[in-house]
Amino acid sequence: MNKVKIIRLIKNNKEVTKSELSTKLGLSHTTVNTYVQKLIDEGLVERAGVAASNGGRKPMIVKLVAEAKYSFGVSITPKAVYILLVNLLGDKVVSTYFSYRKGDELEKVLNKLKYWIEQIICVNGLDRNKIMGMGMVFPGVVDDDECVLKYSPNLNVRNYDFKRFEENIGLKIYVENEANAAAYAEQLLGKGRDKGNFVYVSIGDGIGTGIIIDKHIYKGNQKKAGEFGHLKISEEKIKCNCGRTGCWELFASKMALLRYFEEYTQQKIYLIEQVFMAYQQGDTGASQALEKYAHYLFRGLENILLSVNPDYVIIGGDLGQYAQQIIEIAVEKLHFTDRFFGYENTKIYCSGLHAEGAVIGAALLPLEAIFNYQKNVI
Ligand SMILES: [Zn+2]
Repeated sequence: MNKVKIIRLIKNNKEVTKSELSTKLGLSHTTVNTYVQKLIDEGLVERAGVAASNGGRKPMIVKLVAEAKYSFGVSITPKAVYILLVNLLGDKVVSTYFSYRKGDELEKVLNKLKYWIEQIICVNGLDRNKIMGMGMVFPGVVDDDECVLKYSPNLNVRNYDFKRFEENIGLKIYVENEANAAAYAEQLLGKGRDKGNFVYVSIGDGIGTGIIIDKHIYKGNQKKAGEFGHLKISEEKIKCNCGRTGCWELFASKMALLRYFEEYTQQKIYLIEQVFMAYQQGDTGASQALEKYAHYLFRGLENILLSVNPDYVIIGGDLGQYAQQIIEIAVEKLHFTDRFFGYENTKIYCSGLHAEGAVIGAALLPLEAIFNYQKNVI
């Protein structure tokens, strides 16, 4: 634990002297020296010069070796696979994606993914021994202990075991629900930083939610907690991929917004950017579509607030960067303020990580082995 505390503090401060480590962590100089030397021997930390002296010996500055380790993050969505390679500092090294035909077998998508990963390793001349592993995230219920994607209605997959793929690709695989991963990234790097309890709502083709309680992902029995996207919010008989009707994600996902736009303007579009552009230009249909969307989005959010009562809600995923505009519509036109914003002062934020939260969280998962962020050691 002392070693973890030390490496986390070095990472958070970028460069730090050994005496600062000792003061900030309340550890003896001998303990700090021992663990810093271990980290240097492992190649994770290096000396970065000396700081000015306060009279005695000049204190040694240490920092992380960015290229000591790498980690892949992969987010599999119904039509595209996003890939991110980060170094030990969590800095982006490669960020890319490939599309696939909706409905393609997962097996086929994984073969393509293997090809892309091998290309990235080869082009960047990466030493495989330095790659900590690959975090893979999906919309759906994931058993991270068993490395199994239990059920993803939107990918049409049940009980997919990733152990064979792990052997095949030769990298340690970590699996997680995409919204949980995004919430985890948000807690480490984004708006959720240092906030104990919040719910992250990831809005894309569907809706996923990640619940953070006391800085930890809350998964619940059978790891199904946070499947709010399938909360029934309407009696309309629109069929969901999960087999039921009236699920929240049918009314408040990206697809729903595109559907409302078509309903009010008779124009078929494929990008949500177009809805917001039309709205900015004063298009009445876009305005009506966004009002209907905000109505349903907030109907679901209200349920989350009432069931979890978090300190904050963070909206991310594809809709994340537009969330502020939707919140304004909900407050100004639909008067959600009285009913809802005033309700126990829960704030709603837009994710600072935008649509990338899930893949960033995925890439951070293998680095847990070094930093142990899910363990409260500081
Ligand atoms: Zn559903």
